[in-house]
Amino acid sequence: MDKRSSGGDFHVLAVANQKGGVGKTTTAINLGTALAAIDQPTLVIDLDAQGNASTGLGLPEGERNVSTYDVLAGAAALEQAMVETSIPNLYLAPSTRDLAGLEPEISSAPNRAYFLRDAIMSLKASQEERGSEPQIRYVLVDCPPSLNILTVNAMAAADSVLVPVQCEFFALEGITQLKDTIDFVRSSLNPSLEIHGVVLTMHDPRTKLADEVASEVRNFFGDKVYNTMIPRNVRVAEAPSHGKPILLYDQKSAGSKAYIQLAAEIIDREQSASAA
Ligand code: ADP
Ligand code: MG
Repeated sequence: MDKRSSGGDFHVLAVANQKGGVGKTTTAINLGTALAAIDQPTLVIDLDAQGNASTGLGLPEGERNVSTYDVLAGAAALEQAMVETSIPNLYLAPSTRDLAGLEPEISSAPNRAYFLRDAIMSLKASQEERGSEPQIRYVLVDCPPSLNILTVNAMAAADSVLVPVQCEFFALEGITQLKDTIDFVRSSLNPSLEIHGVVLTMHDPRTKLADEVASEVRNFFGDKVYNTMIPRNVRVAEAPSHGKPILLYDQKSAGSKAYIQLAAEIIDREQSASAA
């Protein structure tokens, strides 16, 4: 079935974990690239004031003319923030440092948890109306390392949450709060929100600890954990400083292969969910 026949519809995944350094941004960039490469036009929305996804996709700070801050502050449509990247089929809505100041500015707005959802719905509507390119298939929201209003906006706008968990000691630390936040959003803002899956990142097959952590995470999350594990790979860590996703920087690396495999697994999971 041609998935585009559904006309303008797309999947929104919030890449979230309030722990910093677990691979959220790396996953948003590289999963986005892998999805784009297998003919799924993808938009990465940078929702972290640090702007690492924007830098990693090659957009320097000085060139972020319209940002996710402008979108959430109601000054611009998501379409206006969207720029092409050097990867065909991959688009970016960049962030700037302004985003760090958004929370107090919107704290008295009653619908402040829905600003991103509304922006995404407008994009969806205009995609349906125009029927023109690009027809986005996936939206990946790169969340900040906090369970703040930005992450809540991402979850309120999302179909599901993708949780990167780093294969290290204390991997599950904070997971209860993350699950509580997902439950809160589901019960109050977005009843159909679910966890799409949990991706184990920075897995080092040479260490016993990595395997112990992987089985601990599988015990906790069961079959929510993707079969694909992202290996710790120096090429993955180097790529952002060149403003490139790993698939452009070193296509043959273990990291590239893993993100391609993850993209395929995500699509498979959705197809079996929709066939069920
Ligand atoms: P987060 O967005 O959750 O804070 P990042 O994606 O920025 O985490 O990753 C944290 C650090 O770990 C970055 O320096 C990144 O380059 C590095 N990193 C992420 N994934 C890998 C990997 N698979 N192999 C090696 N380094 C990685
Ligand atoms: Mg990040």
